[in-house]
Amino acid sequence: MTEPSLDLAIRDGMIVDGTGAPARRGDVAIRDGRVVALGEVREPARRTIDAAGAVVAPGFVDIHTHYDAQLFWDRWCTISPWHGVTSVVIGNCGFGIAPTRAAHRDLVLRTLESVEGMSLEALRAGVGTEWPFESFPEFLDAIAARGTAINVGALVGHTPVRLHVMGEEATEREATEDEIARMRALVAEALAAGALGFATSKSPTHVGWAGRPVPSRAATLAEIETLAGCLADAGHGVMQATIGPGLFLAEFAAIQRATGRPVSWTALLGGMLGPDGHRGVLEESARMQREGVRVIPQVSCRPLVVEFQMRAPFPLESMSVFHPVSAADFEGRKRIYADPEFRGALREKLHTGVLTARFRDMEIGGHTPDPSLDGRRLGDVAEERGVHFVDLALDLSLANGLDTRFRMAILNTDEATVAELLAHPATMVGLSDAGAHASQLCDACAPTDLLGRWVREKGVLTLEEGVRRLTSQPADVFGIAGRGRLAPGLAADVTVFDPDTVGCTPLRRVHDFPAGADRLVSDARGIRAVVVNGTIIREGGRDALAGDGPLPGRVLRGGQISAAA
Ligand SMILES: [Zn+2]
Repeated sequence: MTEPSLDLAIRDGMIVDGTGAPARRGDVAIRDGRVVALGEVREPARRTIDAAGAVVAPGFVDIHTHYDAQLFWDRWCTISPWHGVTSVVIGNCGFGIAPTRAAHRDLVLRTLESVEGMSLEALRAGVGTEWPFESFPEFLDAIAARGTAINVGALVGHTPVRLHVMGEEATEREATEDEIARMRALVAEALAAGALGFATSKSPTHVGWAGRPVPSRAATLAEIETLAGCLADAGHGVMQATIGPGLFLAEFAAIQRATGRPVSWTALLGGMLGPDGHRGVLEESARMQREGVRVIPQVSCRPLVVEFQMRAPFPLESMSVFHPVSAADFEGRKRIYADPEFRGALREKLHTGVLTARFRDMEIGGHTPDPSLDGRRLGDVAEERGVHFVDLALDLSLANGLDTRFRMAILNTDEATVAELLAHPATMVGLSDAGAHASQLCDACAPTDLLGRWVREKGVLTLEEGVRRLTSQPADVFGIAGRGRLAPGLAADVTVFDPDTVGCTPLRRVHDFPAGADRLVSDARGIRAVVVNGTIIREGGRDALAGDGPLPGRVLRGGQISAAA
């Protein structure tokens, strides 16, 4: 008997290769971590996946995640691989964890706690006190040394870079020329080590430790332009940015023209500029792209729902009336919520306006003293009880140690608008925010949701186009070379799914994070197998490898094909 020449053969599936080309029946042959043939494959293989009736696609690429810290306790980046994701990009919105001086570790974790709604106890227990890196290159090496089930690429974040250079003053003031030069050196160092790009945020919703703005928000446009200039020097990389005052299309266009590098921004969501406000942005983006200006809005197939507790009321913190709350500790927050003056001011603020309806329409959850309120609309319960919905929300919270949860659908709620955004050629799919807001929401299931709801059920995208939006398009914009397509010579990242059942389940709460912290997860339906660099990591909805053994994921380094590195 001779040894089979193939490591893996995926037989008899419908190959959707990620380019948008029509599906075709065939086999995929894999050897040494790469695809070696597509079509009819007769050679024997050591392992075979029967893909009859299934789609065989490139593994999905999720370019907007926040697994930066989670990677250090969860080498699987759950739940992304459950949903067919084989490559993720971290460091989005500028919130990486490197470079970080030892003295700033707690500030970095407290920033993640606040801005990404992650449990501080879980972060502290999960990352530990001895971090195996300070610089960005050391961070990438630490990820590689620990190993990952899927591939991980990282953007270098403006916030840790600014904190590294300016210390606590990073949240407070403009940088000096010397400080900007030192930041520039850190960004350049990160890009040279393989960062996929540079990320920043000017969003007023990004509030960090002690209610202070995240460091990147204190930067001038000139500082951002200077740091983005590193991309031009490196000759690779993308700029990812969360929009805010003074950082939108005109600024992105100027940066794109100056650097020659693509800019991908978060996020173009239905309703964010009024009911039809997205249309002008789509037209402007298409016009720029026709002129060769690669400024690409990220869109999402899911409503932007945030779950929060009054102990950390981050969706409300952009309201001026909440500024004292942001600055207060737990006991201080309780005192403020009980204060009639604060309540009067909040009722006044929520008398009219867009936030009023969102607040009144919030769903109640996790109210231990009265579980019958679970899933009920705040406004309905307030009406039944003859109280103002503001007072009800605060009374429920105070009666429950500020633990009562509220789920607020903020944006992207109108289906026709979402369909228009998903189908528009100028957009790309992003903003899963996987790994962030772990106890409040979960959109890491966006790929299966896109394929189930928006491709199969609503027909907004063809199967081929839906797969392209999850694979070659994000890989190309983020410079992930050699992935996102099925073709001989490329990395063997493959997702096999059943097009008739693929989808995701409603969210459920689990307690599997460090220190017993909880999070919301969604299960996948119809994902038959997930292959990373030629190794089956998931099969039949289960992990196919031991969690503590070697794992096949690679660190994706910008400007390099790292398939078999
Ligand atoms: Zn983000």
